[in-house]
Amino acid sequence: MNIKKALVLGMLLSCQSVTAAPLSYDLQAKKVADNTWIFKGKLEDFSNKNGGNIVNTGFIETEVGVVVIDTGPSLRYGKEMRKAIEQITDKPIKYVFNTHHHPDHFLGNQAFSDIDIYSLPKTKSQLAQHGNAFAENMYRLVGDWMRSTEAQLPTKTIDTTGLKLGSHHLKLMPFSGHTGSDLVIFDEKTGVLFASDMVFYQRALTTPHTPGIQLWRDEISKLKAINYKVLIPGHGPISANKAPLDQMSAYLNWLDNTLIAAAKAGLSMNEVIKLPISDEFAGIKLSRYEFVRTVAHLYPGYEERFF
Ligand SMILES: [Zn+2]
Repeated sequence: MNIKKALVLGMLLSCQSVTAAPLSYDLQAKKVADNTWIFKGKLEDFSNKNGGNIVNTGFIETEVGVVVIDTGPSLRYGKEMRKAIEQITDKPIKYVFNTHHHPDHFLGNQAFSDIDIYSLPKTKSQLAQHGNAFAENMYRLVGDWMRSTEAQLPTKTIDTTGLKLGSHHLKLMPFSGHTGSDLVIFDEKTGVLFASDMVFYQRALTTPHTPGIQLWRDEISKLKAINYKVLIPGHGPISANKAPLDQMSAYLNWLDNTLIAAAKAGLSMNEVIKLPISDEFAGIKLSRYEFVRTVAHLYPGYEERFF
C-alpha cells in the first residue's frame, strides 16, 4: 500500500471510531393511564443488540412524588430512565421498587442511589446472594452496555401492604410464583396493575428460580380476582383485559401436564425438549428456547415425583 492510500485508510478508520454513535436505549415513556407511564422492552432474549432492554419498567406520578417500578438491566438504562422521567415531571422521585431479583429489573439501581430503593425482604437477600453473579453474567451477554454497572442492593425492605401517596393508594402484594419473591403493585386510583414477572405475555415465561409451576398457576388465579383496568406484564404488551392471565394459566397448565406425562412415560430430557409445543401458543415468542431451559430447570424434579 502506498503512503497516500495508507493515510486515506487511516483517516477513514479514525473517522469511523470518532463518529460511532454512543449506545442508547432510546427510552420512550408511554402513557398507559392517568399519571402512569411505562418503558416498554423488546420481546427478545438478552443480546448485544438490545443491551438487555427486554423488560417493562414504569413510574407513577403522584401529588407528593414519583414512584419508580424496576430500574432496568444496566446503569445506562437507569440513567436514561431517570432522565426521561424528569422530562415528564418535576416532582421528586420518592420511592423506587425492585419487583424481584432478576438482573433486568434491578441493575439500573445505581442511577437512583440517592433515593430509597425498596424490595420484599426475601428479594433483598436473594440479591445479596446472587446480584454480583447476575451482573457479571450480563456483562458477558450484552457487553459494553453494562459499563460501570454494579449490583446495588435495595436500601429498604417492604414492611407494609399499602402505601398512600397523595391521592394514590398503592397495594403492595407479595407473590412467589416466578422467583419465590415477586412484588405486584396495584394502583387503586388508576386501576393499573404492575404484575412484574408474575406475568409474561406473548413472550415465554422463564423458570430458573420458580418454586413450582403449580404454585405459580395458583397465584395467577389470585391475580385474576383483581379488578384492574390495565395490566403491565414484566415482559410483553400491556392489556386492558384478562388475556395475559388466561394465557399464563393455559401455558403453565400445558407445561405442568407435559412434564408430568413425560416423566410418567419415562422420557429422557433429550426427548422432552423435542416435544411439540401446542399450536395454542404459536403467538408466544421464544417458546421453544424457554421450553428447553424449563426442562433443564424443572424436569429432574418431575422425574423424581412421577417416575
Ligand atoms: Zn424475572
